[in-house]
Amino acid sequence: MDKKQLFSQLPSVDQILNNDNIITLLEEYPRVIVLESIRESIDVQRKKILSLDDKDIKDFYINEDKMIHEIKDSTKAKYSLSLRKVINGTGVVIHTNLGRSLISDKIKDEVWGIASRYSNLEYDLNLGERGSRYSHLENIIKRITNAEDVLVVNNNAAAVLLVLSTLCKDKEAIVSRGELVEVGGSFRIPSVMEQSGAKLVEVGSTNKTYIKDYEEAINENTSALLKVHTSNYRILGFTHSVEINELSDLGKKYNIPVVEDLGSGLFIDLSKYGFSYEPTVMDSLKGGADIVTFSGDKILGGPQAGIIVGKKEYIQKMKKNQLTRALRVDKFTMAALEATFRMYLDEDMAIKNIPTIKMLTYNIEELESKANALYNCIKSKNLEIDINIEDGYSQVGGGSMPLEKISTKLVSIVPNNISVAAFERKLRLCDNHIIGRVYDNKYILDVRTIFEDEFDIIADTIKGILY
Ligand SMILES: *Cc1c(COP(=O)(O)O)cnc(C)c1O
Repeated sequence: MDKKQLFSQLPSVDQILNNDNIITLLEEYPRVIVLESIRESIDVQRKKILSLDDKDIKDFYINEDKMIHEIKDSTKAKYSLSLRKVINGTGVVIHTNLGRSLISDKIKDEVWGIASRYSNLEYDLNLGERGSRYSHLENIIKRITNAEDVLVVNNNAAAVLLVLSTLCKDKEAIVSRGELVEVGGSFRIPSVMEQSGAKLVEVGSTNKTYIKDYEEAINENTSALLKVHTSNYRILGFTHSVEINELSDLGKKYNIPVVEDLGSGLFIDLSKYGFSYEPTVMDSLKGGADIVTFSGDKILGGPQAGIIVGKKEYIQKMKKNQLTRALRVDKFTMAALEATFRMYLDEDMAIKNIPTIKMLTYNIEELESKANALYNCIKSKNLEIDINIEDGYSQVGGGSMPLEKISTKLVSIVPNNISVAAFERKLRLCDNHIIGRVYDNKYILDVRTIFEDEFDIIADTIKGILY
């Protein structure tokens, strides 16, 4: 046997295509992907033959079954979505990098029913004629917020852009220097204002802004008083900012709309669950804001969206703005958002069924029992690790409540035979993509953001990695 003979034994692409397993594979996967995998597999064999030493040639044989196996695996891997499920062991509930808020399992059939079939998206069933896509969300959001009118767009950045572009284009909007927020990658209030065509008039100082600062800046070009929630930072020490009710009185005196960008859409006062007080959407409206904007996928716990609520006279103008068409939401989002809002009709139901709210409001006993369950699951595998349950803190995330320290229970693991860094990396890269934290040279999993049905997967994955 020499190399030439081995090469001649390599199966051809056509031969492999005629294999029964590959014929079945072709029923499920695109031919281009299967072909690519076949060619790669043949190429791997060819390279192996090329690199053989003379003495190894006689022991080498082409294992076609193994090739078929590899082709199947490679086809599946190539065809899998780039966007994939991960297990969030970080304890950051609204993790923007990991998909922000999760949609409740409870509503998946309803939402999928709308997405996969025709619907009355823009059709009025009573009149049998064209309707408005926004009408579906109006009823439930008005009912929950008591707002006069509602408009939903793609995200909160879009909501702020639309509000400013409608009310303040070529005019002035007054905002406190303490509230020139940047959130996430690139949402900066000053830049958004510039995009919208509004002229930003900054008043006060970084740490102190008073009502007289706003009043002194008002002139005939002033078109809005803007209050921005400092979602992801706090100014501590000697500070003063103007509350929404004070700003609203000023707005009324000069007949200028008051806009509040709340960031997170809070509908339940979480202070009764041990959080510091933050204004809910209803608080802001009751405080006199004419327009309030917030995200759908932060604390609200729904899909990505930007929700605008408030006075009809202003929201009607926004509906007529051409930008609205560019920022509109699709039926999938609308169905998920309506179903999420509906749960807020009953606070207990919201806490039970909206994953974000549920995770934020776990009590310590529930977390302790989750931690025990995860600990026992991993412990039962008898692995070479030190494993413990520890006290720690979770975070709200999503740029919300940055200083809040929420007590939680952690499972900490130190593997005996590989480094913590290598362990973290393997867990992150494995098929189940477990994302944990390394702290104090220990691998840490916070049970707050881990689902119970993920405990076994985690234990099995760790076992797989350490064996
Ligand atoms: C998060 C946030 C935004 C942006 O919201 P997206 O829904 O991410 O576009 C805008 N303003 C404030 C105050 C925020 O906290």
